[in-house]
Amino acid sequence: MTIARVALDVPVACLFDYAAPSLGRECIGKRVLVPFGKRQIVGMVMEIANQPSISPQRIKPVSFVFQDIPAIPAKTLALFRFCSDYYHHPLGQVVMNALPSRLRRNKPITQNANRWFDLTETGRRVDLSTIPAINVLRRKLLERLKTEGALEIHEARKIAASAQKSLNEFTELGWVQEIAPPAISESRAIPAPELNAEQEQVLRPIRMGEFACWLLFGVTGSGKTEIYMSLISQALVKGKQALFLVPEINLSPQLEALLKMRFPQCRVVCLHSGLNEGARLENWLLAQSGQAQIILGTRLAVFTPIPNLGVIIVDEEHDASFKQQEGLRYSARDVAVYSAKQANVPVILGSATPSLESYQHALSGRYNMAILSRRAPENAALPPLRCIDIRRAKLNEGLSETLIAALKERLQRREQSLIFINRRGYAPVLMCCACAWISGCSRCSSRLVLHLREKQLRCHHCGHEECVPSACPNCGNVDLIPLGQGTQRVESALSDLFPSARILRIDRDTTRRKAMWPGMLKSIQEQQVDILVGTQILSKGHDFPNLSLVGILNADSSLYSTDFRASERLFAQLMQVAGRAGRADIPGEVLIQTQFSDHPLFEALRRNDYSAFAETLLAERRHAGLPPFMHQALLRAEATRSSTVMNFLADAAKVASRVDHEVTVYDPVPAHMPRLAGRERGQLLVQGASRKKLQAFLNDWYPKLTEKAGKKVRWALDVDPLDF
Ligand SMILES: [Zn+2]
Ligand SMILES: [Zn+2]
Repeated sequence: MTIARVALDVPVACLFDYAAPSLGRECIGKRVLVPFGKRQIVGMVMEIANQPSISPQRIKPVSFVFQDIPAIPAKTLALFRFCSDYYHHPLGQVVMNALPSRLRRNKPITQNANRWFDLTETGRRVDLSTIPAINVLRRKLLERLKTEGALEIHEARKIAASAQKSLNEFTELGWVQEIAPPAISESRAIPAPELNAEQEQVLRPIRMGEFACWLLFGVTGSGKTEIYMSLISQALVKGKQALFLVPEINLSPQLEALLKMRFPQCRVVCLHSGLNEGARLENWLLAQSGQAQIILGTRLAVFTPIPNLGVIIVDEEHDASFKQQEGLRYSARDVAVYSAKQANVPVILGSATPSLESYQHALSGRYNMAILSRRAPENAALPPLRCIDIRRAKLNEGLSETLIAALKERLQRREQSLIFINRRGYAPVLMCCACAWISGCSRCSSRLVLHLREKQLRCHHCGHEECVPSACPNCGNVDLIPLGQGTQRVESALSDLFPSARILRIDRDTTRRKAMWPGMLKSIQEQQVDILVGTQILSKGHDFPNLSLVGILNADSSLYSTDFRASERLFAQLMQVAGRAGRADIPGEVLIQTQFSDHPLFEALRRNDYSAFAETLLAERRHAGLPPFMHQALLRAEATRSSTVMNFLADAAKVASRVDHEVTVYDPVPAHMPRLAGRERGQLLVQGASRKKLQAFLNDWYPKLTEKAGKKVRWALDVDPLDF
């Protein structure tokens, strides 16, 4: 009896047996349709066995084997298994969620990518004016074919979503024919700039075709991108593919353009959650078939099967968005390292402010360290940084006189300024002066943020929105005041102070629509903006050559936070924001408004000395017994009643103490935000001195948790949690 063991997208940590008399090992990695309960669902064959693991009478046959795409390679399947084991997440869910959504559907797919179309002789003779004006898109397509020649289906769809239909019609009319993909010319490549001595030195020891993890620690503007480009080029020369992971792709359109310009002979595809289903599938297939040589993507791209992988790059490796916060709570950075090891290729983790985990690995020799300590010649010196003590300063809507004067100076010199405040909205809370009522979210233990322009109170955690009340809901007093500052308030204060200045606010509210950001970026680069006000969106890798002043507001709350990672993050953020000032030939300046101007964090920033700061933090963490010296897992639970949550966690702690391993099990506590979107939340931390011991413990503990949890509790294990 031949049995196919199938991974299914169900929350059960096992594979399911189906009879498959005609299947052999070549079907491992293929999608199949199988009966599950009363439904037919799509799964993936993970193993072929001779013996069923359940009674043979209960085994049903596989209904259908999809032959539309080649099987997922064994290496990718092994990567899924590793993730399932390490993060303690059901294998079926790991596998199925790693696939583009169209591959999870009960329908074979048709492959469209890399199909080219050109006009026939008849087509060339068609007079555009004979096409009724109402068919705008058909006209556009024909016009494009006439003026620029052959085009690929992907490009056609950009002109019109229904392009495929029009092209079919044109083909029937004999106007258009499908042609073989044309060879791509290599002439357009823009040449690589010459590397400086330091860059050469960094590149020399990195070998293709050999696993090594490199931490590329390079100050902002030191030319990390050139190192990446060089390595990609080395991989391409050997006929290999490159995987390039970035935290957020919509924010870095420059990178895609750069890759395309530098490697015009190659196909560059993007993979991120902002793509529509069709485009994501197409790009995934191009990567999986080896037709795309460069795969640029966010964390989810790390699961793409890449048959000829030659190098992996993880840019801004410290960025928290590499960690998924729901479902499979994986770190794409760590998975990338595993994946590189599996493929025996180098992986480069780049950052100006490495995560303490990676930094410690580099210090201990587990990773190799490569350092770029100088800004490349086209970049000026790092800007001087000054703290403004706001305990003594008089503030105007949160802005000190020193900062206002500095802004004025930039306006006069026609240079740009940036005000960084990591809080969107107008004010973080609305308060009643009479009874001290504050605007709280009814579904979360958080406050509602005042968005004045939209006349709304919004919860930034659950998305709840309501109108701004005209009087206090508690006492009826009409005197409600906004407390604290957000981007909107700073924006309006600045337009009062500088009525003729052109001010642009950049936060998640103004960049929500995808198309907005490139336009904004362009207006900044074309000098149509004098003052930028924004959140951490602005800290990510953009060059603003005319920017000479950065003002930082409200950084203090992170200095003494209960989250032990807060200062590491603040440093990274401030360093990145500060790095925006004074590139090119205009000297820059950074002003930080703070109540703690002699805090060591600012001192380290001033000296631009991340290493010293990181070493201080590492010493503290070692002393306190925290990561990276300890390994953690967090059991997260939620339910409608808090007693259900706490009882489950208490039970979980009790069974944990019976599991004999060298790990510390802490007491169950309410989550940092105990109530979210109407659900009560709690957590239980376990910690071990070695990864291995912690994993051994989790292996024993996990099945017991499954037994203990009733239907009322939703729970998940978060291995290597970043947020508490
Ligand atoms: Zn009141
Ligand atoms: Zn809420």
